[in-house]
Amino acid sequence: MRARVDTAPAWTRARGRRRVGARVAGGVARDGPSARTIEIMESIASARDDDDASAARGAGGTTTLEGLMRLDAAWTSMRRGAGRGDGEAFARRRRRRAATETASDAFDVAVCGGTLGILVACALQRRGGRVCVIERGELRGREQEWNVSRAELEALVRAGALTAEDADEVTMIEFNPIRCGFHGSEKEDIVTRDVLNCGVSPARLVAKCRERFEEAGGRVMERASLNGVDVYDDCAVLDVDGNAVHARLVLDCMGFNSPIVRQIRGGAKPDGVCVVVGTCAEGFDASKNESADLIRTVTDIETDYRGQYFWEAFPASSGPGDRTTYMFTYMDAEEARPSIASMLDDYWEYMPAYQGLSSMDDVKVKRVLFGLFPTFRNSPLKTEIDRVLAIGDASGIQSPLSFGGLAAILRHVNRITGAVEEALDANALDRDALRSINAYQPALSAAWLFQRCMSVRIGAKPKRDFINRLMTTNFGVMEALGEDVMRPFLQDVVTFKGLGKTLVSMTASKPLFVPEILINAGPGPIADWFRHFIALGMYDLLSSPAGAVAHALRPAGQDESNANPLVEAVSGSLSPRQKFFIRRHAEAVIYGCGRDAH
Ligand SMILES: Cc1cc2nc3c(=O)[nH]c(=O)nc-3n(C[C@H](O)[C@H](O)[C@H](O)COP(=O)(O)OP(=O)(O)OC[C@H]3O[C@@H](n4cnc5c(N)ncnc54)[C@H](O)[C@@H]3O)c2cc1C
Repeated sequence: MRARVDTAPAWTRARGRRRVGARVAGGVARDGPSARTIEIMESIASARDDDDASAARGAGGTTTLEGLMRLDAAWTSMRRGAGRGDGEAFARRRRRRAATETASDAFDVAVCGGTLGILVACALQRRGGRVCVIERGELRGREQEWNVSRAELEALVRAGALTAEDADEVTMIEFNPIRCGFHGSEKEDIVTRDVLNCGVSPARLVAKCRERFEEAGGRVMERASLNGVDVYDDCAVLDVDGNAVHARLVLDCMGFNSPIVRQIRGGAKPDGVCVVVGTCAEGFDASKNESADLIRTVTDIETDYRGQYFWEAFPASSGPGDRTTYMFTYMDAEEARPSIASMLDDYWEYMPAYQGLSSMDDVKVKRVLFGLFPTFRNSPLKTEIDRVLAIGDASGIQSPLSFGGLAAILRHVNRITGAVEEALDANALDRDALRSINAYQPALSAAWLFQRCMSVRIGAKPKRDFINRLMTTNFGVMEALGEDVMRPFLQDVVTFKGLGKTLVSMTASKPLFVPEILINAGPGPIADWFRHFIALGMYDLLSSPAGAVAHALRPAGQDESNANPLVEAVSGSLSPRQKFFIRRHAEAVIYGCGRDAH
């Protein structure tokens, strides 16, 4: 018989739970792991053996008690605003040339951070670049699967990072149907298929991309930490564990906690945060373990500044009765917000009822999961430094609603690798040129208000069922409008038509609810959002001509169909730098209004 985690004593389930003080390097967690969390985490053999803090694995890659306390300490520092005034700049602009002989030996691109970085590095190397990857830990993806839609994964095949067979090999599981449902709603679940229904193994994906990267001549430097960057007129010089590495362009793929991002953002507090906790556990009824919840609520708004808890659940590939469940909430980074460890206690309390278990004892926890996703309204991040460009979570390009950083890079990988290639060809590596790659996207900015509406401000007192009513109304309207509206939204694609139709229908069906939404969001964010909504409409209007311009100015050798002789003649008179900028503006319009997803 399988050994199971002991039931926690009743007192650990009550609010004001007894906790073990958690004093960790870098800060004191205000509200440390409870005895129950410690007991569960220590009972998982891999969570003890696997505590290799230097291993890469990226966000969500650490599943140990130490890792939890480290993340909570970082969350505490973030809430206290301790990121400001970090001392000397990590990336510095020097006004002269680096030594010519070393500069001529430079890599085209140094990708710093290998989790999503290896995907982009592989695509660039296979397109003919000279690329290196600098990874602080071991270059290895985590065990816990990432969920994406199959069509999204195809982007890596188009980018050349994977073959179609590789894409099959890294996809460990597919599940259907996909459900959404909200507490207190009298409506049936919203059911769809083939949205975020593929479990991709990060370990296999990273290994496969690495293999193809090295096969094409790419260089991996692992267990090698980037300690600073000096940018010269002719190249960047990276300090990698005291050794100098030269590159024409630096891609910052070091995640949301990147020292370069902290420098550019001035250590500012994020505008919003999504905190997630969960487990992958075995012992669920295999006959019922086929479908997934994309988003669900089982309670109303919490007390203690915890906001509204949302849930996600899906089968894991490790066994027929294995299932992952996440509980997450959106909030700001005010000091009063709860610790991640204390959210885990709520998870132990709610999860059994959510999944139809009698208690946590019905399943065996294989892995405890946790993560923190800061979001900034000012995203994607525009660089302040020549030759340095943020990619992946560092760039803030992922939706503020989901924690789908892989999904976000898949959506943008062909645009980004194409833009980087053109920047290298046109020698457009200065700050202004690189800022045009991470251009303003009204669709992304408009999505920020949704996060705000799904959170509860400190001091605000909405009715406890407010967010559930909002979600029920919003999803009900989208379902009635059809798959064309619902599917892009579920995949983090906000479009003008979808959003416009949803707002009109919501106002028509629940006119008295609209003032409540406006009051909860606050006048400032609403006014700001309206600006992005108008921009979204303008971008949508311009997207067809922008597509034609981007096509006409495409680099030589790409898709010669539909060539217009007049436009081709004009394009021939432009300099490579001019073409680079015009194409970036055109892409910004197309991606900025979600037209790329059609
Ligand atoms: C619980 C959880 C579940 C998730 N589920 C999904 C999902 O289902 N689908 C999805 O799309 N996304 C999911 N995500 C998000 C996804 O994991 C992240 O978006 C992704 O890991 C971001 O990758 P990144 O490379 O940008 O940053 P990170 O993952 O943060 O990786 C940064 C890398 O940089 C390295 N690094 C840092 N500093 C240095 C330095 N100084 N020198 C060299 N290297 C350095 C780190 O070692 C690390 O490898 C989930 C995240 C969590 C926490």
